[in-house]
Amino acid sequence: MKFYEAIKMRKVSTSNYNWVCFECCYAKRENKQSKNIPLCQECKAEMVCVGYKIEIPKRSSKREWRDFKECFLYYEAEKLVESQKQEVQAKHELEKEIRRVEGLVDNKMNRKNLKRLKECYVECYGIEI
Ligand SMILES: [Zn+2]
Repeated sequence: MKFYEAIKMRKVSTSNYNWVCFECCYAKRENKQSKNIPLCQECKAEMVCVGYKIEIPKRSSKREWRDFKECFLYYEAEKLVESQKQEVQAKHELEKEIRRVEGLVDNKMNRKNLKRLKECYVECYGIEI
């Protein structure tokens, strides 16, 4: 029964997400499974999903909402930078691997492997190596 609580919690936590409109300081909870992005009741703009483990500021606390928005945007930017860093890292890894295989004995298996790696490179980055 060790995981029972965790599984139960997971079910609860993934069912409802907080969606917000930063402009109107409007928040609502919506099922994550729903395919449509909820619209803000006030301005009809698409709302932003901020996850479920977040305490939404009170509507009247404009300052908190401003901080909330700033933090959220900062976090999203960080995430983007991080994923781009990882992409660059992956590209370097692939380039290194191609160089490594190029340096190996020229046999059928290595040629096949090299071909596959180069195809993967072209597919991923749209340029030949
Ligand atoms: Zn709005």
